[in-house]
Amino acid sequence: MHTRKLFFILLAGLFLILSCQRADAPPARDARLTVIATIFPLCDFAREVGGDKASVTMLLPPASDAHHYELKPDDIVRVSHADIFLFVSFEMEQWAYKVINAAAEKTNMLAVEAGKGAMLLPLTQEPGHGHESDAMEASGDREEEPATRYDPHIWLDFANAQTMIDNIAAAFINKDPSNSETYKQNAERYKARLQELDRSYRTGLSDCRTRTLLHAGHWAFSYLARRYQLTYLSAYNMSADAEPSPQQMLMLINEVKKKKLPYIYYEDLAAPKLAKTIAAETGVGLLKLNNGHDVGKRDIQAGATFISLMEGNLKSLKKGMQCP
Ligand SMILES: [Zn+2]
Repeated sequence: MHTRKLFFILLAGLFLILSCQRADAPPARDARLTVIATIFPLCDFAREVGGDKASVTMLLPPASDAHHYELKPDDIVRVSHADIFLFVSFEMEQWAYKVINAAAEKTNMLAVEAGKGAMLLPLTQEPGHGHESDAMEASGDREEEPATRYDPHIWLDFANAQTMIDNIAAAFINKDPSNSETYKQNAERYKARLQELDRSYRTGLSDCRTRTLLHAGHWAFSYLARRYQLTYLSAYNMSADAEPSPQQMLMLINEVKKKKLPYIYYEDLAAPKLAKTIAAETGVGLLKLNNGHDVGKRDIQAGATFISLMEGNLKSLKKGMQCP
């Protein structure tokens, strides 16, 4: 009995250390809330809100394609053992309803759409819908056209990130009211850090030589661009699994030349080849931007957090847009 208890304490400690990594076994039962969050930003937010009262793990293995994730039977088992299942939205994780339906049959697991109530931006271009150019463009002062689908990367607007924190805190309080004060305090403290991050973006990007963010990756930064009045150009739609057309490539190269951009941006886990081609063609420099959901195992193990990734992005943006 004693050994068994010790084993569970050790196991619980292990899960605490491995936060925001995928756990291959269902979480051990302990006094803490067991929470499964689909992707990295959500997992990191949940970890901040839960503090030492929640055991939070990430459903997706690091570096998997969050938009087109293929569920494994084991995922359903893991979620059905959790107290709370957190996903961003049915726009982001279109497969989430499958997990919820399958797991909810067996348990009283609470499924929470953390992005509920967030400000949404439409995807400004769908392939075949016609557009003035082959790349997608969003600008802070442009009227958005109505669309039926939304850009799911809502956390890249830091006010939306705070809405997500509120939703997460409400879910934790619902399931574990005895610790409601802790969850509220943790949520407020973290929201203050997000507000501080927002201020550093506003100040840092207030006076730049260019305001064009040319991204040789998938359409992910429209929220960030809108919030800080940047013009956003992206090479791909929602996933970077198909090479862009020669016309798209030409358009991006022309934009770099026309606007005399000193740098363009690439994603860690997709499309460095495209970025390199544009760079070779134009002599432009390359800088990394992280969308929050593509976070590799090495970064997670090195202790990356949502805020550290966003601070890295701000550094890249200031350098690339020449903001003093
Ligand atoms: Zn994405």
